[in-house]
Amino acid sequence: MPPKPNRKYCCVKSCRNNSTTSGVTLFRFPKDSERYLIWLKNCGRMDLAKLSPEHLYTNYRLCNTHFQNKMFAGPVADVKKKIEKICIT
Ligand SMILES: [Zn+2]
Repeated sequence: MPPKPNRKYCCVKSCRNNSTTSGVTLFRFPKDSERYLIWLKNCGRMDLAKLSPEHLYTNYRLCNTHFQNKMFAGPVADVKKKIEKICIT
């Protein structure tokens, strides 16, 4: 039996990006209990706040387009650096 494809989708309802979309990077939620709430708020998924940070970290992803549009106002060239910074726990 071949392994099941492990495709991950962005958790933003209006977003159809997934791990196979070219040019898109999916990020895990931070396990930090304050920051994961900020992420949920920024991506409009406060309905997921009832889940534990561990569960979100394991099962949900957020793609890079939301970081550019909603979390950071800086130039695009700086965004990757900032994302990496915020993702490191
Ligand atoms: Zn997305």
